[in-house]
Amino acid sequence: MAERREIAPNEDPVCGMTPDVEQARAKGLTTEYEGREYVFCGKGCLLEFGDDPEKYLDPAYTPSM
Ligand SMILES: [Zn+2]
Repeated sequence: MAERREIAPNEDPVCGMTPDVEQARAKGLTTEYEGREYVFCGKGCLLEFGDDPEKYLDPAYTPSM
């Protein structure tokens, strides 16, 4: 299995922000991947993650805006 970065339950894996999880769920800004939930600050990050989740979960990736 591939190595994964440590990502907090409320951390946007793309940009590193920490959006409110309840609000993100209410807005549909969450996704499930490999059995866990990821939250996003906005649709842009959600779509980017959807395009290539492995890129953002790789330990070599550094979140940035
Ligand atoms: Zn974001």
